[in-house]
This record gives sequence, structure tokens and C-alpha cells, in this order.
Amino acid sequence: MNVEEIFPGVFELHMDYGRDTAGLLTDGAFPHAVWYVAGPTPALLDPGPTVVAKETLRTIRELGYDPNDIEYVIPSHIHVDHGGGSGWLVRELPKAKAVFHARGVPYMTDVTRLAEGTRQVFGDEWEEVFGELLPVPEDRVVSVEEGVRLELGGRPYRVVFMPGHSLDHIGLYDETNEALYSGHGLGNYMPHRFMPDPPMTLPYFDVAASIDSIRRARDLKPRYLLPAHTGFLAANPAFAIDAVERVTIELGEIIQAGIREGTSQERMEEQVRAYFFAKPDKADRSYLPTVQAYVNYYERQDRRRK
Ligand SMILES: [Zn+2]
Ligand SMILES: [Zn+2]
Repeated sequence: MNVEEIFPGVFELHMDYGRDTAGLLTDGAFPHAVWYVAGPTPALLDPGPTVVAKETLRTIRELGYDPNDIEYVIPSHIHVDHGGGSGWLVRELPKAKAVFHARGVPYMTDVTRLAEGTRQVFGDEWEEVFGELLPVPEDRVVSVEEGVRLELGGRPYRVVFMPGHSLDHIGLYDETNEALYSGHGLGNYMPHRFMPDPPMTLPYFDVAASIDSIRRARDLKPRYLLPAHTGFLAANPAFAIDAVERVTIELGEIIQAGIREGTSQERMEEQVRAYFFAKPDKADRSYLPTVQAYVNYYERQDRRRK
């Protein structure tokens, strides 16, 4: 695990784990960043799946802190690669409560639907990749909504509701450092590519809600942006937010045109690769999951209109 103190008392813990068997982000291991907020009322932001959570507690001990002091575990959303370790963590940590948006709570107190959805997207070996998925007992859950304030590490943070990537996605705004912990809600920023991925996922991705969340994040004018998979973006978050807005809209236009013209998904995937890469044959992975996420959304919209 890589550790960096990004603000006084705030540590970014970064690791790669497992394999992205759905090809949502990479054709190899998942990258994941967790933040440990030290001080009074210590917290873990975007704890990740259980395999990451185990490493995280070891690393916190090595930093000289006692993980048993942790009071809040705050995933940006319920997906197993972000919140899947919550049940395991509250079992391990005597004081910890897990914080979810109200819409996500039922999926975490009973994880049956989440486990089944994860199996459908990542395949039967999903538990080997992410580790066990334990439910969070109801008395260890804190349910939040837009605007709720939390004291983490003795400093004020605010919940920002950012649905689209999932129906329950939240960001956390750190008022001291003017930093937005954006989870997966503002897309994904790969170090080798200057254009971000849209905040897409399978099977459920709400394009319009994502664009709305992206715009609301920009209105906060954060000085720093902290996306969960690749971690700290140092400078000019406004550029990153503009870029993800544009990518999310323009990929939608490509897919909508493809649907209108009866283009095959394979051909749309070539168009998406050509959008990202000057040499599409040198793309880092298949963009078929991206195409499918958009197609699912527009087909849902179409059914709703009929
Ligand atoms: Zn997700
Ligand atoms: Zn994610």
C-alpha cells in the first residue's frame, strides 16, 4: 500500500488489487484510494472492498494509529468495490458506524441483492476479487442525505448527493481544505490518459443524473478533487470537471446516433475508442462495457416514454 499525507492529518492509502473481470476500469487490477482522516472522530473515506479494508487497517497501525478508534466508515456508494468492506469493518472496529445515503441503506443491511448484482457484473469469482461481503447491522448504520454535516478528524465535512453512477452516490466536501471526495461520481481519471472516463458502470448508469451531479460538483468550486480509484488530483479541478462533463455528454451523443442508425455495439465500441485514442488499435482496453452502460440507459429511457 502506498501512503501519502495529502493534507495535515489526512492520509491517502492507495493499492491495486484483484482483477477487473467486468473490464469497467482496466483490463488488469483495480486501482483504489482510501482516505484515513486522523484526529478526534477518525474516519475512513471510501473504504473499498474487504480485501482493501484488511490492508488498510494494517497500514493504519503501521502509521502509528489505533484503528479501534475509528468512528466512521463512509463509502461514496454501495458498489462492492467502494462499500463492500463496510460490514467487515464495523465487525472489526468496536466504535465504527457505516455512513450511507438513505437510498443505499437497504442494500447494505441486507446484502442479498448487492451480492447477486455483483455476481452478474463480475462473474462467479467475484468474492475472490473483492473478499467477503458482510451486511452492516442496522444499529451500526448512519443514514444521511444532501447537506448533512459530519465532524471527521475534528473538522467539518458536508455530504453532497451526487447520483448517476449509482442511485445512492454521495461526495464529501471537506470545508477546511476545500476538497471534494468525489467517489466514482465524477468519472475515473487514468494516469496514462488525459481524458477521464464518464461515471459509467453496469448495469445501471443514469446519464442525465450524472451530468447534473457533475455540474453541482463544479458549483462547489473545490480546490482539490479526490476521485476514489486513482486518488488525489492536484491542480485545477475545474478542468477535470469540465472534461468529465464533456466526455459524458459526447459519448452519449455517439451512442444515441448509433442507436438511431442501427449501428452494432461492436461498431459503437470502435467509435468510442476512436474518440479516446488517436490510434484506436492502441486502446488500453475494450470499451464495450461503456457502450453497454449507455445503451442500457437510453433503452430504459425509451421504454419509459412508451
Ligand atoms: Zn461504483
Ligand atoms: Zn468505482
